[in-house]
Amino acid sequence: MALTGPRPPQPAPESSPAPGDGGRSGVARAAVAVLLLTPLLRLAVVRHAVPAGSILRAGCAACGAVVELRHPWPALGPTARCRRCRARTGPRPGSVELAAVGAVALLVLLGPPVAELAAVAWWLGWVLPLCFIDLAVHRLPDRLTWPAAAGVGLLLGLAALTGAGAGPWLRAVLGGAGLALFFAATTLLLGARGFGLGDAKLALGAGALLAWHGWPVLVAGLLLALGLSALVSLGLLAARRARWSSHLPFGPFLVLGTLAALLLSG
Ligand SMILES: [Zn+2]
Repeated sequence: MALTGPRPPQPAPESSPAPGDGGRSGVARAAVAVLLLTPLLRLAVVRHAVPAGSILRAGCAACGAVVELRHPWPALGPTARCRRCRARTGPRPGSVELAAVGAVALLVLLGPPVAELAAVAWWLGWVLPLCFIDLAVHRLPDRLTWPAAAGVGLLLGLAALTGAGAGPWLRAVLGGAGLALFFAATTLLLGARGFGLGDAKLALGAGALLAWHGWPVLVAGLLLALGLSALVSLGLLAARRARWSSHLPFGPFLVLGTLAALLLSG
């Protein structure tokens, strides 16, 4: 004789919210987080977009009013205006915010695993201001390139420990170092016509993120970056907005090429 009777019917699972709701609130939360983060990104650009060897900029270039995180608006807000003299502070109005929203959209598209996503998110947090700085003053300051690369190495190490294994991590370290050496070698061989050493340091993190997914992804990222930069250079030449001797900052292209290759590989 069975000791237990028929099992009582299981309670129906809690009705889950409509699929759209969770996604929408997630996107809204991400958007709020981005808008809270962008003053920090703008501050990094204002501080570091100075010629090599100069001290970091503390305030408005026009009137000297201090720009700081304690009073982020309007100088570090989307309108990017000095609160005293209304002169523009840092990158174009809305540009950093747009780039940050694009970065979040990209992370959503890339999706889990979370540990690898954390490495990309960390990298984006540093390279986003770096792109604006490179566009403004053709520099990629060490204060931003080193932490970007170090964090990628550590977070990918965490991803390796939590399941991905040592193989991808070793490939990432080798890929980052290899790509950095490639850029550094062009500086040594070609001088000013080669890439800068800042590009080489930026390539450490980019190469690691790309090589994590495989050697073909690393090659694709590099080719996409070079191709994009060549296309834009030709466009600028055709529009007579640049000359053959002009030096185009390469950092933004390396970042875009890396992100495009990561998206395509996913
Ligand atoms: Zn001012």
